[in-house]
Amino acid sequence: MIDLHTHSTASDGTLSPEAVVDLAAEKGLTALALTDHDTVAGIPPAQARAGERGIELVPGVELGIRWEGPGTMHILGYCFRHDDGELRERLAWLRMCRRVRAERIVGKLNHLGCGISFGRVEEIAGGESIGRPHVAQALVEAGAVSSVADAFARYLSRGRPGFVEKKQLNPEEAIRLLKSCGGVAVLAHPATLKLGLEALSQLVEELKGKGLEGLEVSWSGHNERQVRAYTELAGRLGLLTTGGSDFHGENKPDIELGTGRHGNVKVEPSVLVALREHRRASAAGPS
Ligand code: AMP
Ligand code: FE
Ligand code: FE
Ligand code: ZN
Repeated sequence: MIDLHTHSTASDGTLSPEAVVDLAAEKGLTALALTDHDTVAGIPPAQARAGERGIELVPGVELGIRWEGPGTMHILGYCFRHDDGELRERLAWLRMCRRVRAERIVGKLNHLGCGISFGRVEEIAGGESIGRPHVAQALVEAGAVSSVADAFARYLSRGRPGFVEKKQLNPEEAIRLLKSCGGVAVLAHPATLKLGLEALSQLVEELKGKGLEGLEVSWSGHNERQVRAYTELAGRLGLLTTGGSDFHGENKPDIELGTGRHGNVKVEPSVLVALREHRRASAAGPS
């Protein structure tokens, strides 16, 4: 088994990149993609550890996308050159925007009497990509909420009093950026777009026109019916299918690395073979 969607302390997971790799090795996974939000900082240390443990580490990243729809759009990038200058510059800009936003969130929360400090949130985030889960952890610590999930439900989700919009790339920009450094662009967890199947098909077809190459069909939040529908959609549009748990450690305690929620995720190594094959073919260009 493999897992192509995981987060480490480089963004909002609670295990270090090395510890994610160790856990993957203990679980018998043969390959793992680290897909931290807006950062590639976890890739080199994870790659080094993966080499020692004899498993494969796939470079990955997850980008939040600006989109005027009912739900949330994320795009995953895989197998890119993670030392690419433009990629690193854009990601650094996104992280700077995250920082400014987190400061504003803390301001709002303290106005509501939560009593947390931005310094502590920064400490919890540990330097790379700051996100709402770090603010949530600070709220738990301060005793203002009972859990990370409670922090989102009461303060941090869209429509709640601590919510602040995040600067994001639009789909074209994200796909172009990922492809410019040799990556493969995949639409993450289609269910979170909150579209009916027909509207989703239309959107995915449009995104394919902009260079999208795959659809994440297997994911902790998808039920069997959704997995089937998305697999069928990918097949119809000639897109790759991928999958992963979206492991975040203790920030999402019900999700297990590799197997997702109650074992609802199972990704075969052949998925990565197809992804690599596709990347090789597009790098070679039309013959
Ligand atoms: P941000 O990137 O700062 O917008 O925060 C989004 C991240 O928060 C997601 O990637 C999830 O890791 C996490 N998240 C979103 N909603 C919840 C929730 N209800 N409970 C726990 N974590 C959540
Ligand atoms: Fe996350
Ligand atoms: Fe996501
Ligand atoms: Zn994710």
